[in-house]
Amino acid sequence: MTPTYTGRFAPSPTGPLHAGSLVAALASWLDARAHRGRWLLRIEDTDRLRCVAGADREIVRQLAALGLRPDAPPQWQSARGDAYAAALQRLVDAGHAYPCGCSRREIDDALAAAGRRPPRHGERVYPGTCRPERGGLRGRPPRAWRVRVGSDEAPVVIRWHDRRLGQQQQNVTAEVGDFVLRRADGPWAYQLAVVVDDAAQGVTDVVRGEDLADNTPRQIHLQRLLGLPTPRHLHTPLVRDARGEKLSKQTGAAPLDVAEALAALRAAGAVLGVEVDAASAGDWLARAVDAWAASWPLV
Ligand code: GLU
Repeated sequence: MTPTYTGRFAPSPTGPLHAGSLVAALASWLDARAHRGRWLLRIEDTDRLRCVAGADREIVRQLAALGLRPDAPPQWQSARGDAYAAALQRLVDAGHAYPCGCSRREIDDALAAAGRRPPRHGERVYPGTCRPERGGLRGRPPRAWRVRVGSDEAPVVIRWHDRRLGQQQQNVTAEVGDFVLRRADGPWAYQLAVVVDDAAQGVTDVVRGEDLADNTPRQIHLQRLLGLPTPRHLHTPLVRDARGEKLSKQTGAAPLDVAEALAALRAAGAVLGVEVDAASAGDWLARAVDAWAASWPLV
């Protein structure tokens, strides 16, 4: 029987698990267990430069020490290049993706010439210079592969429901533009890899940190172009440091001490609104599953 629920935790192995990443891991595990589903672990190591040697094994070890064990062997994205290449080829063949030869500088110059400013967090909305109908690469070498995201006349507006954040909407054309699927120097973009793998692993439910919520419309756009199902989504609260910034490896979050499993689970549970009494980590997890099931029905 195919399971009706498959969830996953998909860490990038840029360092060991910390108090912030545990929240996402725990929420995805609790949601899978509360809905009698499968829980998978996927190591997102497409960007080799950001990966830290051994961090993947350490994450697996930390999760196991907390009692969070995946239902199948972990999958590494670095072994999945053929699947991403096949998806990119399908998009190219259908006219949805194209090679781009622009440098950052050229993109900035083109945006300035068009009187456009980067609208969000300084993110560049690609002006479409290398779209085939506008002349393509014009003899330049490709730097990246991009996916088309609508046009000013027919923008791609994605509406989606998040189980915690409620109804969401983004005009992907205006706010993101034609985004990168693969950099010419090699790495596959997170957006393509995540969509291909979620479909290949039969993921029905994406439970992850709120900082990733604004990637969801890009992923839904790709799912629609590739004819893949869109999972349900639940984006969890983030753990913030004393300055209010998201706790992350980049801002120096300490590795999680799994020798204190119960304390670590309690702290992550508190961020998720799960507060249960328990004498051991295993006991805490069992009670937390019941609490979670009562709070987060599958709607
Ligand atoms: N690998 C991503 C990260 O660690 C998460 C991907 C996802 O859950 O979709 O930030």
